[in-house]
Amino acid sequence: MLTIDERVALLRSNPFLREAPPDFVGAIAGAAVERAYRRGDFIFAKSDPADDCYVLVEGRVGHPEVQAAEEQYSVSRETAVGGQLFGFAAFVQGMPRRVISARCELPTRVLAIEGNRFQALAREAGRAGHELLQNLTRTFAAHERGVAARSGWLSLRNVGKVYDPLGRSVVAVDDCSIEIRPGEFCAIVGPSGCGKSTLLNAIAGFDSLTTGGIALDGEWINRPGARPLPGPDRIVVFQNGALFPWATIRENLVRGPVVQKRMSEDASLAKAREMLARVGLADIEDLYPAAISSGMCRRVEIIRALVNDPKVILLDEPFRGLDALTKTVTHNALLELFDLSAKTVLFITHDLEEAIFLADRVLVMTTRPGRIKQTIAVDLPRPRTMDLLTAPEFLRLKEEAIEAVHEEAVKAFAAGERELA
Ligand code: ADP
Repeated sequence: MLTIDERVALLRSNPFLREAPPDFVGAIAGAAVERAYRRGDFIFAKSDPADDCYVLVEGRVGHPEVQAAEEQYSVSRETAVGGQLFGFAAFVQGMPRRVISARCELPTRVLAIEGNRFQALAREAGRAGHELLQNLTRTFAAHERGVAARSGWLSLRNVGKVYDPLGRSVVAVDDCSIEIRPGEFCAIVGPSGCGKSTLLNAIAGFDSLTTGGIALDGEWINRPGARPLPGPDRIVVFQNGALFPWATIRENLVRGPVVQKRMSEDASLAKAREMLARVGLADIEDLYPAAISSGMCRRVEIIRALVNDPKVILLDEPFRGLDALTKTVTHNALLELFDLSAKTVLFITHDLEEAIFLADRVLVMTTRPGRIKQTIAVDLPRPRTMDLLTAPEFLRLKEEAIEAVHEEAVKAFAAGERELA
């Protein structure tokens, strides 16, 4: 049995609790119970309601679903180390059950804290406690997201698109191959006219392909010669917005799932309200789109897409034209919703900083005909916060992207001059 001082020291060894108020850490140490497990025992199973959270004392805990996902989609495997908190799905709103289980790989001891008790203590701790809960929620949601997203694998194979093949013949995209993992946030950047929207429209099923093919979870959704298949599994959020001006925010949000009979009005409203609250829009549901700012509209549109529960969300320069401050708020909202939602995201933008801040991977396209010129893996931890924007690794990635895009922009400019000559 650990003494209270040893418990406090263990809790303090966890990065989340290092800065927490002493009373709070002491209270958790007092409220926790010690439990021992044998090798192979489950501490909690995937189907368990999300309640307790745990701090590892000694041993090792593995997550079978993460390991399976790793094999399937190369999601990184995480194993708990001493002092690590795990099993926090309790704090991820909208996630009433865990998406992963925890199994002991060695004889293991943990401190278990009842989830509601933990939350109550954190609330009593005031601002620091509130921030801790927020950080935990975002971190755990992000972690579980990769495992939860078992669908939304987007595969572009040697895609080519020629507009007006019998006339002027514009080769917009040529031999473009991209694999996007379920739950991945992928950004595409490139000079104007390089074929970004062409790709997005082909994925959405709005336009046909000339060569190659696009598959979603292994099923062709766009092949030359066949009619492209748009579907509710892919939702596009456009730059100019598409909220119905004659309907309130609430009606805008619940209409899709209700009309398509995929969810009751109550269920979709509950889901929408939870997401609105998450991004600071709890009290706007009775307003009409004209009464809210364009930044708020963007947030509502993203929520509307998520309420419809697609496999993939396609965003075509959604934040273009927003001022810098609004853009920042909207980025944070998108990341918060992304961390919660386990969706695949394809994001098109001109803004390199935005691409790197948001995405797991940035693809730089060549000037027309568009191909993938360079892939930039953004291995920056989530949750992402504003201080990342000045971190050396962030700046290095930004420089890499600027160089690649600039080279293409110069080529595009030269080609434009030739075309005009
Ligand atoms: P981006 O989104 O990167 O700015 P687009 O995908 O919109 O680029 O366009 C790629 C190229 O295809 C551009 O040269 C554009 O003029 C051309 N294009 C796009 N749509 C059409 C169309 N419907 N008919 C003919 N050419 C088109």
